[in-house]
This record gives sequence, C-alpha cells and structure tokens, in this order.
Amino acid sequence: MFTDLAQIFNFTLNPFALISLAAAVINFSLVVLILIKAEKNESNRWFRLLLAAIILWSMSEFLARSSGTAEGYLFWGFTGRPGWVFIPVILFGFVLSYTGKDLFKNSLYWYLTFGPPLAFLFFAWNTNLISNNSLADTFRVPWGWETTPVAPYFWVFIFWLETFLISSVAILTRYYFKTSDEIRKKQTLLIIIAVLIPIIGGSITDAILPIFNIQILPVAVLLTSVMSVVVTYAILRFGLFVINPTLTAKTIIDTMSESLIVLGPRNTIEQINKSTSDLLGYKKDELIGKSIRRILPDVKSWDTFLKRVIIPLKENKFVRGFEIDFRTNEGTLIPVSFSAKSLVENGHLIGMVGLARDIRDTRKLINRLTAERDKISVTISGIVDGVFAVNKTGHIIIFNPAMERMLKVGQDDVINRFSDEIINMYDNEKKLSIMDIMPKHEVFEDKVITSKKNIQILGKDGKEIFVDLTSSTIAGNEEINLGVIVTLHDVSKEHDLEEMKLDFVSMAAHELRTPLTSIRGYLSVLQEELRGKVDKEKMDFLQKAFISSGQLASLVENLLSVSRIERGKMKIEKSQVDLLELLTEVVSTHEDQAKQKKIKLKLIKPDEKLPKISVDRFRISEMVSNLVGNALTYTDGGGSVTVSVEKKDNEIITEVADTGQGIPEEALPKLFTKFFRVSGVLEQGSKGTGLGLYISKAIVEMHKGRIWVKSTLGKGSTFKFSLPLDIPEEKSANKDRVITGKGEDILGGTSQVKKTFTKKGKKIA
Ligand code: ADP
Repeated sequence: MFTDLAQIFNFTLNPFALISLAAAVINFSLVVLILIKAEKNESNRWFRLLLAAIILWSMSEFLARSSGTAEGYLFWGFTGRPGWVFIPVILFGFVLSYTGKDLFKNSLYWYLTFGPPLAFLFFAWNTNLISNNSLADTFRVPWGWETTPVAPYFWVFIFWLETFLISSVAILTRYYFKTSDEIRKKQTLLIIIAVLIPIIGGSITDAILPIFNIQILPVAVLLTSVMSVVVTYAILRFGLFVINPTLTAKTIIDTMSESLIVLGPRNTIEQINKSTSDLLGYKKDELIGKSIRRILPDVKSWDTFLKRVIIPLKENKFVRGFEIDFRTNEGTLIPVSFSAKSLVENGHLIGMVGLARDIRDTRKLINRLTAERDKISVTISGIVDGVFAVNKTGHIIIFNPAMERMLKVGQDDVINRFSDEIINMYDNEKKLSIMDIMPKHEVFEDKVITSKKNIQILGKDGKEIFVDLTSSTIAGNEEINLGVIVTLHDVSKEHDLEEMKLDFVSMAAHELRTPLTSIRGYLSVLQEELRGKVDKEKMDFLQKAFISSGQLASLVENLLSVSRIERGKMKIEKSQVDLLELLTEVVSTHEDQAKQKKIKLKLIKPDEKLPKISVDRFRISEMVSNLVGNALTYTDGGGSVTVSVEKKDNEIITEVADTGQGIPEEALPKLFTKFFRVSGVLEQGSKGTGLGLYISKAIVEMHKGRIWVKSTLGKGSTFKFSLPLDIPEEKSANKDRVITGKGEDILGGTSQVKKTFTKKGKKIA
C-alpha cells in the first residue's frame, strides 16, 4: 500500500502539528528527568514506559499532521498505533504497581491484559474495522487530515480503553480513601486528577465526538502530556515512588511485633504502636499522656523500673533486655524484655524510646527446658554407674554422684577441668585419653562411639577400679558443644573375684604338682620293682594308675598355663629357632604312639630352606606336640598324620593334617575356647582336658601368629598356624591379654564375670 516514498515524505508545515511535537518533546524531557532524578523502582519503570508510548503516539501524530498527502497521513498514522493502543494497559500497570498490587504474577493476566491491545493493533493495521484506513475517505482539515466516517468497530476499542482508564481511576480512588498517610494521599489525589484530564478531555475530542461525526481539533495527545507533567511533578515534588524514610519508619513501627513505647521526659507515654495496644489491651488514647506506672503492676516494680530503666536512661545509658512484668488492661501480667534508649536533642533529654518484647513463650520454653534438665539430672544422679560428659575439648561438663563416689572427688572440683587430669584411665596398662573415645567427626545420630571392657581407673587414693566403659554422643552434639557422654560400669568386684579364682587355681595347681610328681615317681618305681613278681592284672592296675596320674599331671600343667595366660604372666623367651628341626624332634617323640596305633606319621620337608625364626622354642614345640598328639588321638588305626611346613610371604605356615574323625562344623567356632571338647563319641574315647587348643592359640598369638582349622566330619582335620618372620619387638605376654580371652571364667562357673566377659558357649570335659 505505502510504496510511494515521495508521497510519504512529502511534508508541509502545519502549526497545529506543532502541538503534537510539543507533546513529544515534553514527554521526552520528562523521561530524561525521571531517569536522572527519580528512584529506579517498578512504578517508575511503568511510568517511563507510559511516557515512551505517548512519545511514539505524539511523534506519529506530528508527522501525520504535517504530511502533505493523504497517503503520508495514513502512513504516519500507522506508525503511531502501537503507542495509543497500549497506553491504557500501561497506565493500568502503573496504577497497580503504585498501589502495591501485583496482578501480573499470573501469566493468564498477562494474556488477558495484553491480548486485546495486540488484537486491536492487528485489526487497526490490517482492516478498516478499528480504524478507517481508506484513502478515499481522507480529506484535509485545518489541523491536518481527517478520515470519516469513523471505522465501524472503533467504539469497541474506545469501550475497552475507557474500561481500563476507569478501572485505573477507581483503584486510585480506593487507595486514596484507604491510605492513612497524608503525603501519600496528596500524591494519589494529584495522580487521579492527572489521569482524569486526558480521560475526559481526550476521550471527548478524539473518540466520542468523532463517533458522532463531529470534527474538532483532537487534543488527546496534549491533554495526556498534561497528565505526564502533573505525575512527573508529583514524582519529583513529593518524592513519589521514592521510598520515604518517615513512611518507612512508620510502616515498620506499625507492623513490627515488638511493642514500642515512647516516653516523655516526665515518664508519660507519648506514643505507642499497634503491638503495644494489642499486647496490653488498651486503646491508643487510653495510654497516651498517662504515666508509665499505669502499665506496671505495683509500687515495687515501679521502683525497679525507675532504678533499672529511667535513671540509666536519664544518664544517657542504653538499657538492654531488662525483664519486667507489664500489667494489661484486664490486670494480667505479661513478662517482657525491655530495651530502651534516650532521645536527646541539643543536649536535652526529650524522651525515651523503649521496645518491649513479649517473653511469655520464651519463659514457657525455659521452664520446660529447666524441668527437662532437672529430670535428666535427677536421672543421672540416680544412676549407680558413673556417668560424666565432656565438651568438645574434653573438659568435664557433667559428673554424677556415682562418679564422685568412684573417684572420691566433689563435683565442684571437676567441672570445667580437663577430663584426663581428673580421670586416669588405662586400657591394658596403656593410658587412655578422653580424646581417644571422642567422635572424630560430627555426629548426625545418637550413637555409641566406643565400648571397652576392663578399663582400669586410678582413684585419687591410688586405689584401682576396673570398669566397663561406654562412650556415646547425641545427634547435633557440635551445636551444643558436647563431646561424649561416658558411662563407667564398675566391675572391680568381678575383677577381684576373677583374680581370686585365678589365684586359687594357680595355688591349687601348684600344690597338686609336688604330690603328683612323687606319686608318679613311686608308681614308676613300683612298676620297675614289681615287674615279673606280680600277676599281669596287678601290673595292669599299676599301669592304669600311672597313665591316669600322667593325665592328671598334664591337666595341672595346663591349668597353670591357663592361669598364667589369663593373668598375662605367661612369658615367651625367644631364640633363633630352625622350625624344621623343631618339627622333626616333635614328630620323632610321637613315633612310638603312632606305631602303636598303626598310624602313618610323616613330616614333609619344604622345597626351600626355611630361615630361622625368633620364637620361644619350648612353647612352640609344646604347641606342635599338642596338635600332633590330638591328630594321633582322634585318628583311627590305618590312618595317617602329616606334618608339613612352608614359607609364604612373610610367614612360615605349619600344617598338621590327619585322616581322622574330623570335627563337626558347629563345633569349629568354639574349638579354641577354654575347656571345649567335641561332645559325643569322640569325647568319650579320650581323656583330654579341652585346654590344649586354647593354650595353643594363646601361644601362637603371643608370637603374633594365627591358628585355624579346616575339617570334614569322617574325613579328617587340618590344623594350620602361622608365625611371622620378623616379630615386632615391643609385644609382651601382658598386652595380649585381651586376645587370649582374659576374663573367661576359668572354672566355668556362672558368676557375673562369665556374663560380662564372654558370650561364647563352652563345655567342661
Ligand atoms: P583335648 O585335651 O580334649 O584334646 P584340645 O583343646 O586339644 O583338648 O582339643 C579340644 C577338642 O577338639 C578335643 O576334645 C577334640 O574333640 C577336638 N579335636 C582337637 N584336635 C582334633 C583332631 N585332630 N581331630 C578331631 N578332633 C579334634
């Protein structure tokens, strides 16, 4: 349509067009002014958008009116359409933003708001429905050009436009009546007037009259510009849309949850906020002008208030968190935390500003927590076990009466002291620090950190106590600066009992040893002397007595070994030993027994030469002897027992394999425990003590080795043990107490010790 550039750019000067130009210039200046002077906030952004739309509209009107041709007029009219089409919605957006409403949160509102103007724009550009674009209907008028008749649906657009404009005015008016802020009121009134000018004037000249075919100079642009000026004036004059400090302060005071009380120099209440009247149940005027005494319950509290608040304030001191009760209109007392500062102007005290915070909930919470704490402390006090807790740095924060009794110290002497200074703990004679039983990382659940048995504690008086120790902590321990809570269960009595038992066993065994040796001596002499002199039956009796006394002697020896192991008194004396040579010796001492039982006993030599190892020759051969002896005992005639040895990595592994009866699977886990013997046929067939393997295990472990077994019932068993090539020097029999099962009830009784120390089942032969 618009192809003829010569027509479009054909301008003639028209004085009326200058009105539109003036409007464009005015609006443009306002944009600049606002950009420079006003706050950059949302309302102002909407307003600047509004001005931009007006500029587009007025520029297009200026060019259209100055056009020398009807085509030019129509073309320039086209360019301005986005301006006027969007003005109503932009104004609406501005009003919403100014009154603090947020309609555009929802995208549906966006479509509903911006959909229609886009449709109008589309129809105005492409059809003659909204705007008459017909060249034939265009004619010259004194102020430029006019096209009549007006497009048939132009009124639809006008109707929509008026709806938005009237809604905007309505929202502003409502806001005007609602706001209590005087400045805001004035500003709103100005904006309402400003918006009404173009609505009324512009609608009449540009829309309503043309609809009725009455043509006068359209002044909407100019009137809209008047609106722009007035609103800009409001922006700059009243700091409109700029956050105003007084207003801000007022809003904060009215909305804050703390109660504000402003006192005059003579202690009268000058000002209170909504929270104060809500809290105390008074209306504003019932308190304003009254003495502060009115809200204090009695003379005594007034005295304290005077001393703790008024006097310090008059001395220009800050009052912080002073707790007092206020009395409400109904007479109830409300505890508050009161902070205040004096207001001084030119060196004179003009008043005091106080803030009161309702602490009823806090009080309740504190009471509840106190009750909870008391409950816990009563519980802890009542516990017979020693309980103490330390913070993250190991300083004692809780110490119960049982602890006091245990260590013979008073609570007051230990609280806040470093735990290690007070509680001397030893784990197998090694000092145990509180830091060793602390969680190493932050803990997110209640959990046990360590659980240790038989910890030795040295009391102040040098008395030693034995305890089972459990350290635990709770989730969020970091926050409350809790390290661990330690429970000490006194097992000294059990420990003493255990010691007594060991003493008894050891003493009994010692006492039995001497007579046994002489019995065996005499029996052996008798056997020699009477050989051939008495009948075979009597010789058999003698032989049986000799064998039985031998068994008794080995039981005594075993018991002595066990008691030594348990007390940690078993020593190993190391020397460089050629293990193959040792094995050869042990095997040869069993050859007779093997021959008698018709069992093939052999030693398989290793392919490579074995290095010497540092072990206790006597103990190791005692142990191997036990293994070989067992193998022979539990293997029937015709079977075989094979001893072999090999070097593997850093160890020498010795193996004693037999083709005997084997060991039932369920017995395997208990095999190396004290007094354990496989029940049933096997048990009855021999007269062992059930201590051999237990002692073997202890010996191997003292050498830092391991012992284990594989066995199939009816097919045979293979016992293996390893000895490390280089044995660390520091170990001593003592340190191995725990490994060797210290604490197991040597007599197999049902005492407390047994429950405490062992969960393994066992059986006495
Ligand atoms: P004991 O003095 O009874 O032999 P040990 O501690 O040496 O005591 O052995 C414990 C039990 O293990 C034995 O009573 C026996 O039932 C079983 N046992 C040990 N070695 C063998 C083996 N080579 N074959 C089958 N059973 C065995």
